[in-house]
Amino acid sequence: MTDLSGLRAVVTGGAAGIGLATARALTAQGAAVVVLDIEPAGVPRPLLGLKADVSDDASVRAAVEAAATALGGIDILVNNAGIGAIGTVEDNPDEQWHRVLDVNVLGMVRTTRAALPHLRRSAHAAVVNTCSIAATAGLPQRALYSASKGAVLSLTLAMAADHVREGIRVNCVNPGTADTPWVGRLLDAADDPEAERAALNARQPMGRLVTADEVAAAIVYLASPAAASVTGTALAVDGGMQGLRLRPA
Ligand code: NAD
Repeated sequence: MTDLSGLRAVVTGGAAGIGLATARALTAQGAAVVVLDIEPAGVPRPLLGLKADVSDDASVRAAVEAAATALGGIDILVNNAGIGAIGTVEDNPDEQWHRVLDVNVLGMVRTTRAALPHLRRSAHAAVVNTCSIAATAGLPQRALYSASKGAVLSLTLAMAADHVREGIRVNCVNPGTADTPWVGRLLDAADDPEAERAALNARQPMGRLVTADEVAAAIVYLASPAAASVTGTALAVDGGMQGLRLRPA
């Protein structure tokens, strides 16, 4: 029931990390996929990569139309592009708040707005937003990032309500710490990246990070006919980070 043969998908931020894993997983299930990314150069075949900046409305509109033309329509939209921010409310200036909210929240609004006319023409329309456990977990040093993902969670629920009678399902995935280039960059910035990685793994309930492929599998499920009655939900792919209450070892 996760067969996506004949379906057409657009993945934002699909040139790396969770987005690239998702584009590959959608392709493996038979979907035709276009990736929208600010750096689409490295997108491997048979994926088609188009340049788009989700913080630029004109760029998004043009890229979504080009994707719809290339694919012959859009059935699946994966709003995945996002950027991080570290710190408390005292650490990030207003400009940084505007920038992160612009990419992480408004970016999803822009792509969805551009894709909706195409999704309405689909018999299997689904939107999946990449949210985060930061939306609900109360993580330290993540005030701005958490606020942006809290907005993504609320946006997901509101969009699901607005479009349910149009046959468009809207869900999100909440990854825990996933092993992507993003996390690699954070680890590389540490004094001892190997020790930092070991400590990060040790903090996970499963003793390891979530993989991008595992998040992609959840996105494929939510986008597929297997989830035909699933809308307005958040699926955690976090190795138990949020749900488990483990005693300290
Ligand atoms: P990543 O940095 O490894 O890859 C992100 C991709 O998005 C890159 O290809 C980048 O070029 C693209 N991108 C960035 N800004 C863009 C923009 N303005 N327009 C278009 N494309 C843009 O990141 P990742 O770890 O794969 O994260 C992907 C999503 O998953 C993000 O929304 C992030 O918040 C979310 N997430 C990640 C983790 C994690 O631990 N890695 C955890 C929870 C949620």
